[in-house]
Amino acid sequence: MLIDVYTIILLFFVGLIAGYLCIILALKLPLRKKEYVNACDHCNHKYKWYQLIPLFSYLMSRGRCPYCKNRISLMYVILDFICGLLFSFGYIFYGFSYELIAIIILTLLAVMIYVSDFKYYVILDEPLIFFSILILLFKAIFFGFKTFIISLCSGLLIFIFMLAIRWLGNKIFKQDSIGGGDIKLAMFFGFVLGVRLSIISLVLGSFLAFPSAIYYSLAKVNKEIPFGPFLITGLYLVFVFMEPIKSFLSIIFK
Ligand SMILES: [Zn+2]
Repeated sequence: MLIDVYTIILLFFVGLIAGYLCIILALKLPLRKKEYVNACDHCNHKYKWYQLIPLFSYLMSRGRCPYCKNRISLMYVILDFICGLLFSFGYIFYGFSYELIAIIILTLLAVMIYVSDFKYYVILDEPLIFFSILILLFKAIFFGFKTFIISLCSGLLIFIFMLAIRWLGNKIFKQDSIGGGDIKLAMFFGFVLGVRLSIISLVLGSFLAFPSAIYYSLAKVNKEIPFGPFLITGLYLVFVFMEPIKSFLSIIFK
């Protein structure tokens, strides 16, 4: 497989721009306001086009809105940068393939979930639906109709499985145990990974959330933990390490 340096650089910048757009959408969509995309959160002043260039505009304005001097979170810039890196690494590891497309989709969805779930405690429906359709479409293109149907059914099965777990959890704990957004996110896992690997990634995501859960209860933080970011990290890890996990499973279930 031939890896081209120009493509690596190009994908890095595509990742920066796409990540930046996804962060803005994840910040603004939950507010359900119109004419918002290119304006400051704080003073509503519209930005000029060059003030919207990812990373560059942040460095030029030293992390503040040029009009009201409100500080822009460094976290978003870091997320954006990681997005660019993951696009490039996706290409380095997988070349032009279904895996690269999946990495791009997973990265953008992860960025949106990190932002919207940490900030507003919501997992937005729009990106989930959009990226679900995309992933199913590319599965059909790369692997054919049969794989498409299997992936679709896997997602629906995981959805029903999660509804059953929530029903059980609600009975036991007498409160809402799993958020609706998390259940829909789990369905997306089914589309990407199939049933078995989805369950593994859900378990992994829960393990990742465990230290935060302990911290929240010890520090008596009176907030619920945003579960989505941990779940999507679990999905990402299982997707990247799919081959070793599959061979491990085949040893166990021999
Ligand atoms: Zn401002």
